Amino acid sequence: MPKYIVVTGGVLSGLGKGVVASSIGLLLKSNGYKVTAIKIDPYLNCDAGTMNPFQHGEVFVLEDGGEVDLDLGNYERFLDINLHRDNNITTGKVYKNVIEKERRGDYLGKTVQIVPHITNEIKEWIRRVAAKSNADVCVIEIGGTVGDIESMPFLEAVRQLHLEEGHENVVFIHTTLVPIVSVVGEQKTKPTQHSVKELRAIGIDPDAIVGRCREPLKKETKEKISLFCNVPVDAVFSSPDVECIYELPLVLKKQGLPDFILRRLGLEKRDGKMDEWENFVSRLKNAKNGVSIALVGKYTALGDSYLSILEAFRHAGAELDTKVRVVWVEAEDIESEGTKILESVDAILVPGGFGSRGAEGKIAAIKFAREAKKPFLGICFGFQLAVVEYGRHVLGLRCHTTEIEPDVEHPIVTILPEQYDVDELGGTMRLGAQPIVIKEGTLAFKLYKRKEIMERHRHRYEVNPEYVDKLEKHGLVFSGVAKDKIRMEILELPSHPYFIASQFHPEFKSRPLKPAPLFYGLVKAALEEKKKMR
Ligand code: GLN
Repeated sequence: MPKYIVVTGGVLSGLGKGVVASSIGLLLKSNGYKVTAIKIDPYLNCDAGTMNPFQHGEVFVLEDGGEVDLDLGNYERFLDINLHRDNNITTGKVYKNVIEKERRGDYLGKTVQIVPHITNEIKEWIRRVAAKSNADVCVIEIGGTVGDIESMPFLEAVRQLHLEEGHENVVFIHTTLVPIVSVVGEQKTKPTQHSVKELRAIGIDPDAIVGRCREPLKKETKEKISLFCNVPVDAVFSSPDVECIYELPLVLKKQGLPDFILRRLGLEKRDGKMDEWENFVSRLKNAKNGVSIALVGKYTALGDSYLSILEAFRHAGAELDTKVRVVWVEAEDIESEGTKILESVDAILVPGGFGSRGAEGKIAAIKFAREAKKPFLGICFGFQLAVVEYGRHVLGLRCHTTEIEPDVEHPIVTILPEQYDVDELGGTMRLGAQPIVIKEGTLAFKLYKRKEIMERHRHRYEVNPEYVDKLEKHGLVFSGVAKDKIRMEILELPSHPYFIASQFHPEFKSRPLKPAPLFYGLVKAALEEKKKMR
């Protein structure tokens, strides 16, 4: 029977609750337990796929094609596991199931209600996912803030779960904010007190409190929280500002959080060593080299919209003893101001994207990278626009992707017949891991060192097969092709030190100790470019 660790959040969102939950998972894993994680998002969307990244940050894509909240990315990176779309529960998914059951007549004439029907559906879902994963421990993170109307049914469901599974099998960890009022510098516990009061009114007594604060919580602060929130003082933990999120597990470990949880759940304390992780964090923090890489996108105002890319830079950087400084370049600014800003960077990345805004700026950035021989990585939309750029400036075609110009003379990137009849937007792209065959002797092969790889996708448009020969005759190499031999997956330019792009998203599979090969290659090429520029 799995044990459950429920992580809730109080006061306000964006406190790094997901990172705390991921850290807890990692700490239990390092004690030899098999861990899985569930993220609950109380919004009504069935999944994150239809949401603008400006709202909730990037849409993370899983192996099975699930389009999920970015916290699932943190779980995969911290725990080094692959999750399933069912590991992300949303209000929309739960209600959809219940309404379908009602329409089928499964409820046998009963009045269908939030309690017990919605809460039962939530509990069943949690238990099903935990059982399927064979995990010893299942971390459940409840999105949003305690007190939100949206999260009520979920909190009620985990309250029932605690009752049904038994106290020794369910532990509640509440994360809150401990602000410091600048003039006096005092750590304030009142917001924490209020949010715990709210939680207890729902029937949940937190076992431990993790206070997010600029600095470590003082002894007096912990004592006050203990007294007012009804938890022992050694169950109050600090989540202070850290240089990088990967440090947090180590900070929590030092305070004894894993020991506390193990004791509380009646689990034996095992090894708990984290040497490899500690090494990784120290390499990350003390990197000797530095490179700057331009990220030419259109959601550049919100770092979270490119979260996995930023993490992939860190993983590759740690491996190469290099700190990657990201230079955010808004694609539209290139349209108005030109590519001057790209002259001083060591490499250029054009990430995935949708729609026409900024597309010409991205194409200009790719042209600059190709001609100036700057290391370049294009991802998804960046791959498609690299094909457009080559078609225009090397083949001399009036070409575009039909996503932007449906009636263009040369539709060099277009939709394949299977997408013709799709009219719904949710979950209808080509999604998830697909096999790719890599040509030997290419840069892609040098990086992956394998003939076949699996990488994750999220796109609707493709390189038009009718133009592949022409492009190759003019020097572009498609070094990775889907198993169906129709879809182009990786392109590269042998005459360039590092010019490579992929239809898939390599960033989704990058892990702290296993950097994504295309990112590793980019950072390495950036290091060489920097030496040259000196
Ligand atoms: N807009 C492009 C497509 O749908 C690329 C998508 C992406 O970059 N994720 O094919």
